[in-house]
Amino acid sequence: NSNKSDKDRGVNVQVLLRCRPLSEDERRVNTPVVISCNENRREVSAVQVVANKHIDRTYNFDKVFSSTSQQSELYDKAISPIVHEVLEGYNCTVFAYGQTGTGKTYTMEGGGRKKNGEFPSDAGVIPRAVKHIFEILEAQNVEYNMNVTFLELYNEEITDLLAPEETSKFVDDKSKKPIALMEDGKGGVFVRGLEEEIVSTANEIYKILEKGSAKRRTAETLLNKQSSRSHSIFAITIHIKECTPGGEEMIKCGKLNLVDLAGSENISRSGAREGRAREAGEINKSLLTLGRVINALVDHSGHVPYRDSKLTRLLRDSLGGKTKTCIIATISPSIHCVEETLSTLDYAHRAK
Ligand code: ADP
Ligand code: MG
Repeated sequence: NSNKSDKDRGVNVQVLLRCRPLSEDERRVNTPVVISCNENRREVSAVQVVANKHIDRTYNFDKVFSSTSQQSELYDKAISPIVHEVLEGYNCTVFAYGQTGTGKTYTMEGGGRKKNGEFPSDAGVIPRAVKHIFEILEAQNVEYNMNVTFLELYNEEITDLLAPEETSKFVDDKSKKPIALMEDGKGGVFVRGLEEEIVSTANEIYKILEKGSAKRRTAETLLNKQSSRSHSIFAITIHIKECTPGGEEMIKCGKLNLVDLAGSENISRSGAREGRAREAGEINKSLLTLGRVINALVDHSGHVPYRDSKLTRLLRDSLGGKTKTCIIATISPSIHCVEETLSTLDYAHRAK
């Protein structure tokens, strides 16, 4: 089905592939590179050596970003059109999927330190999308309001990354607003007790993003957990006031979910180890269910198993139907990661 355009297939799932560069350490020890990207042909090849034989595998994606690709390039080619869809009233989701250390957080949030007021060139999808959304809205000169939520899903439990300290989930005090995923009785879900911050400038969102990320790190240390095992969802909801030609007022609503998924190694190296069994199983559940949901949407195979994990329940209003989904699969070029890279390529390719 890869020759047909999205429109022919009636599916709005785009799968992109991004390969990170070798790190300085990897370069210093001359780590062999086993990945080659052809951006024009939208192809990625991986070479695996098994029993002295070279096995070459080539995969096609909707877009391919090589190890020299810049943040601005990925944004302009892949994310900018999605932001326009959101402002037209669609719900859209961008996922970063891949092994830990391959650039999911770099792609979504960006690298380096954010200097006050300055917009770094390695800023990722989230700050770029925020900046872009405000630019468009200001140019259109429309009335709008916007709110953001930022949550983390760890072990099928939700932590509100924007909650004030005393009500946060990881304090685990049931008498204080527990965060819970609730059915709304209309087939949708909402998160009870989730902080929705109203924002009116891009700077406010940057601050919220930093606050949430900092909290993610604190929660990690407190609970001795790792971000590689949690999913984070940064969501922007925008209501735009419009006038119909007849002069009637209408509210257009769009939502953008930006999701930094748990490391995909949590799927393949499942919880065989003592004490990690449940945790790995639960991480499996969300990542595997996401794969099944996307496959069902792409294949039009009837039943879409949204209800099988919290991640897919949470994102239900933004997956399938009148929505757009973009999966950015991230990989390492290193020979040492080739097994995980192949499983990422398989997972991502199946979603096409
Ligand atoms: P993940 O979130 O998938 O675990 P990270 O985003 O933390 O991975 O990336 C791991 C390291 O690689 C970080 O130091 C990051 O800055 C660097 N990195 C990842 N992708 C790129 C890229 N495309 N260009 C430059 N550095 C990158
Ligand atoms: Mg990360």
